[in-house]
Amino acid sequence: MSVSVYDNSQSAIPFLDLVTPHRELEAELTAVFKSTLSTAGFIGGPQVEQFEREFAAFCDASLGIGVGSGTDALRFALAAAGVSEGDVVITVPNTFIATTEAISQVGAAPEFVDINEETYNMDPVKLRNYLENHCHIQSVTGRLISNRSGRPVTAIVPVHLYGQVADMDEIMQLAATYNLIVIEDACQAHGAQYFSQAENRWLKAGSIGLAAAFSFYPGKNLGACGEAGAVTTNSGEISQKVRMMRDHGQAKKYFHQMEGYNGRLDALQAGIMHVKLKHLASWNEKRRAIATTYAELLAPFSEWITIPVEPPNCISVYHLYVIRTKKRESLRQLLAEANIGAAIHYPVPLHLQDAYSHLGYRAGDFPITEKVAGEILSLPMFPNLTRDEQVRIVSNLAKHVERISASAVELVGV
Ligand SMILES: *Cc1c(COP(=O)(O)O)cnc(C)c1O
Repeated sequence: MSVSVYDNSQSAIPFLDLVTPHRELEAELTAVFKSTLSTAGFIGGPQVEQFEREFAAFCDASLGIGVGSGTDALRFALAAAGVSEGDVVITVPNTFIATTEAISQVGAAPEFVDINEETYNMDPVKLRNYLENHCHIQSVTGRLISNRSGRPVTAIVPVHLYGQVADMDEIMQLAATYNLIVIEDACQAHGAQYFSQAENRWLKAGSIGLAAAFSFYPGKNLGACGEAGAVTTNSGEISQKVRMMRDHGQAKKYFHQMEGYNGRLDALQAGIMHVKLKHLASWNEKRRAIATTYAELLAPFSEWITIPVEPPNCISVYHLYVIRTKKRESLRQLLAEANIGAAIHYPVPLHLQDAYSHLGYRAGDFPITEKVAGEILSLPMFPNLTRDEQVRIVSNLAKHVERISASAVELVGV
């Protein structure tokens, strides 16, 4: 291999390029800003309503409600669905903390089930085991009670992590059996699809549970130029409640049916996302093509580098391209030296975070999550990543494989 492959003087490959797509749309985005200035309709109004309709349609959901962030979306969806003080909500420990913050902030407590080692999403076998063997039905009330906390279990939040939908057929079926609410955390899965055997058709992320939460944090597949989020649902009742909750509990100005939040989507962001939404499907296609190229380039190293698994019933939108390898830290350093961005999603599972020490979980409780947390690495993934850049990234991965395979040979040889 030529030395130039490892030439550190080459330009940096960022983990994520947020500059180029906005530069390409600069004229349209600036026009949104100018027209919003001319009307001063900064909060709510037609621009927000239009984006809500368009985004719901994109998700095959009948209703969309713009809110301030993905975290707001999760919090409002859970509360609107009736999750309340003292409840238990089941989710996974391999997710961003916003998932569990939202659960805690509606007064409930998260309890975890482990993930599947191939998809990194909630393992329905573990969910079933939790429901069958770690919960009981209270005879007086008929409610499902968690053995670990003695609290009623009322909801499940599956997370469509890295852009791939969780195994929703099984999850929805278990939810129906146990009468549980399902709120999708679709914050990484704008446009992801899942073939439901139960319904015999492809379903979009955000159209499967009672409601779903999306984030438009700038780095997401659809990002605002600031903070934004949305709830999607087919339920008019949920939609009404989320609308009130995002706006201080009022349906009519200064008539408050309850306490709510300041959690509205601002019009500027809605206008910007109206422009960007038109490109989302093609951006997602580009991400999928990039994933195919990675798979092709990484195929020779399959013994050392685990690439993402996309089951035949999933169409991933590759919010992240997450590989696994032994000696991950040495690879991370190697990429950093070659000016290539990489990140870990997420280095510390939620059940082992200081913030959740009060939940009483211990190392060893979720072995799959714990194992993968030590091996995962997210490679650069954004629509305008070029094949040449991918080749350079993979050349550096090859160097890593050379190192770890050599040390493995040494071990065997001694
Ligand atoms: C980004 C994200 C959130 C939170 O979204 P914000 O808009 O940052 O509040 C929640 N869950 C997951 C899985 C996310 O990736």
